[in-house]
Amino acid sequence: MQGNLNVQTENIFPVIKKFLYSDHEIFLRELISNAIDATQKLKALSSRGEFQGELGDLTVEVKIDKKKLIISDHGIGMTQEEIDKYINQIAFSGANDFLDKYKDVQENLIGHFGLGFYSAFMVADKVEIDTKSYKDAPAMHWSCDGSPEFEMKEGKRKERGTDIILHIADDCKEFLEEHRILELLKKYCRFMPVAIRFGEESTWVDSETEFTEVDDGNGGKKKQPKRVEKKQPRIINDTDPAWRKKPADLTDEDYKKFYHELYPMNFEDPLFQIHLNVDYPFNLTGILYFPKVRKTIDPNRNKIQLYCNQVFVTDSVEGVVPEYLMLLHGVLDSPDIPLNVSRSYLQSDSNVKKIAQHISKKVADKLEEMSKAELEEKKEENGSTFKTLLEEKWDDIKIFVEYGMLTEEKFCERAMKFALLKNTEGQYFKLDEYRDKIKALQTDKDKNVIYLYATDPEEQHAYIAKAKEKGYDVLLMDSVLNSHYINLLEQKIEKTRFVRVDGDTVEKLIAHDDNIPEKLTQEEKDKLKPIIENEVDKQKFTVMLESMESDDQPMVITQNEFMRRYKEMSQTSGGGMGFYGEMPDSYNLVVNINHPLIAQVLNEADADKQKQLVHQLTDLALLSNGLLKGEALTQFIKRSVDIIK
Ligand code: ADP
Repeated sequence: MQGNLNVQTENIFPVIKKFLYSDHEIFLRELISNAIDATQKLKALSSRGEFQGELGDLTVEVKIDKKKLIISDHGIGMTQEEIDKYINQIAFSGANDFLDKYKDVQENLIGHFGLGFYSAFMVADKVEIDTKSYKDAPAMHWSCDGSPEFEMKEGKRKERGTDIILHIADDCKEFLEEHRILELLKKYCRFMPVAIRFGEESTWVDSETEFTEVDDGNGGKKKQPKRVEKKQPRIINDTDPAWRKKPADLTDEDYKKFYHELYPMNFEDPLFQIHLNVDYPFNLTGILYFPKVRKTIDPNRNKIQLYCNQVFVTDSVEGVVPEYLMLLHGVLDSPDIPLNVSRSYLQSDSNVKKIAQHISKKVADKLEEMSKAELEEKKEENGSTFKTLLEEKWDDIKIFVEYGMLTEEKFCERAMKFALLKNTEGQYFKLDEYRDKIKALQTDKDKNVIYLYATDPEEQHAYIAKAKEKGYDVLLMDSVLNSHYINLLEQKIEKTRFVRVDGDTVEKLIAHDDNIPEKLTQEEKDKLKPIIENEVDKQKFTVMLESMESDDQPMVITQNEFMRRYKEMSQTSGGGMGFYGEMPDSYNLVVNINHPLIAQVLNEADADKQKQLVHQLTDLALLSNGLLKGEALTQFIKRSVDIIK
């Protein structure tokens, strides 16, 4: 029988071929999916008793034979009517619709899913189908060379199943190379549910029939089996991947093993994982792994892979999972994510929204559960003390939690209950625990609770020590998202302010009512200020006279908390806050008017000596802040030596 395909376009195949130029390779996924479907259907018929013959070996096979690429299955096969219905009619009329519909969004189609059988024409100039149905019907042979005419006649095939034979076009020769096909099979078919064979692989085993003689160590000889090469079929897929199993049947080791199967190039173990398993109202399985995220976030490595019934679709999951979850690794498998739509459409799909929310909720559940999981005994490591599982993993995942809190309102609400703060002594606290701990001493006169923090315990050592002397606690906040995160906490927790320990003198960090009496009169203060101002760079420093303890330091450098934070934020968030980023650094030079050396400055009659003293004091303050550098540092040392002489 000959016929015309049911299409209007004169010759549709060149169009299909051009379409998705960069993604020709997906034809293999489409054809193997069909082979797997046909096999699964047969299994289903058999288990319902509707097919009573032998199933036999159901392995799907991919072969390269000179200029042909062949995909064979032992599935249900097709009768003449079925070829007519599914290939001649539906498939090719579908092609037309398809091209019409997706003309504008080709680039955006997720995994270009659903192209189906006719994607074969992206790489072949002739396609043959050799098939025999499981029903009692003659074998059929169909062929088409890319024009809208096809040929269909009875075939010679004896076994049940289907061969799809592609005569690969001259400009697609790569698909006749073994390594290229193997690469594609590994990419798209690695977890498909029916075994797929491609060629052979060899292993070295002990021979059962051949032996060699070797020394037995006692001067004699003994027989030893020869190592021989054994060829065996190369099965390229794992038909029963971990995410399809029941969580109860998997150990932590199994999860780790699967992680490395998924990312063979990543040698680091994941921290922990979440196994997703939902039937209703949508179907979703998968495993999400938490990797270590320290200072850097690189979302391009080990990306989450999206599958549809064990068929790989894509590893760019934007739109499917919330942005902050893209830092996770692992797999998601759902037949309910529409794959033949554009990404922008995807985000408005209600199933996809529900799936994203579900994942986010599961992540929050897991973290909350970990925050309740107390360790059998407290663990001490690298100066930190861990009481719960979450505390133990916190340093490695905090960026992720902070990022989630900053970008997802719902997640943030949940996380407020388990997010941790770490202090400079290496202890961890939940947000409300911490507030309870500090509120007695660290509430200021306006009833704000002041959270003191350090970003660099080495550099800010002197300030931390001062604060601790007062009985204050100092947090360690050193993540890249810090300034954004602190702003968020200030908004979320009422009557809260975060102040960096070097943001002010220790008295001023937390302003209580009990002011220290001033030793200078107003007149003396008015005289002192210009003496100091004349000696410093006014662009950079604002001189402030403060009443501090007389045994505190004579001068201290501080930096305005908000100005500093805005500058930092403009560095991490790019646009919008450029203005602050360009502001020069500015500092406060705080002068302790109660210090005897300051009284000495005021009372010094010799102008040169007075200048020298002011210089020496400001330099000391700069030095303790790490701000004295270069020329100024050299002069300071010279001056110091002169003074000692
Ligand atoms: P889809 O798979 O999305 O239905 P296709 O164009 O890939 O669309 O295939 C059309 C139909 O042809 C299938 O639904 C199936 O009925 C039939 N078919 C394709 N390949 C095979 C095969 N290897 N064995 C049996 N039937 C097949």
